[in-house]
Amino acid sequence: VMGVAALAEKIRKVPDWPKKGILFHDITPVLQSPEYFRLLVDLMVYRYMGQKIDVVAGLDARGFIIGAALAYQLNVGFVPIRKKGKLPFDTLSQSYALEYGEATVEIHTDAIQQGARVLLVDDLVATGGTMQAGVELIRKLGGEVVEAAAILEFTDLPGGKNMREKGVPLFTLYQND
Ligand code: 5GP
Repeated sequence: VMGVAALAEKIRKVPDWPKKGILFHDITPVLQSPEYFRLLVDLMVYRYMGQKIDVVAGLDARGFIIGAALAYQLNVGFVPIRKKGKLPFDTLSQSYALEYGEATVEIHTDAIQQGARVLLVDDLVATGGTMQAGVELIRKLGGEVVEAAAILEFTDLPGGKNMREKGVPLFTLYQND
């Protein structure tokens, strides 16, 4: 039976992309395989199916793919947290630092109900900036982040550790450096 080790193996490591010195972890081989895509979603479903989750929020763009499948399986709705300028209705914005410059993500102001128990999903945590921005948006709208979940976490960066120290319940299927 396949598990997390098989999933980790299926993620393609692309050196020097999008720039020199970066080893990009490409999840498309997982997504394009019916067995591995199911494995990924099922590993997450098993963790959360017994918990009280009101809604799944996914981060642009790979968090949409995993998050939507997970929401469907958990029988809850899905909320996209998008890169700036993509959402048509009233939005709340959160900016965060990148290596050079900054990025902004947005959520619709009516996306999270007061007190809603939210599962936040992305594919990967590097510096943690993106995931943390998602946490801020959910909390500002009155939601409770049950867990922030991703496939993997780069443990050579302090992002995940910093988030946990700040009280964010972060879960990753596996960790590497
Ligand atoms: P962070 O904000 O934690 O520094 O970076 C994580 C965000 O950038 C996530 O939204 C993730 O999709 C994207 N990202 C950064 N590096 C990688 C990578 O190596 N592989 C993938 N799939 N996404 C990455």
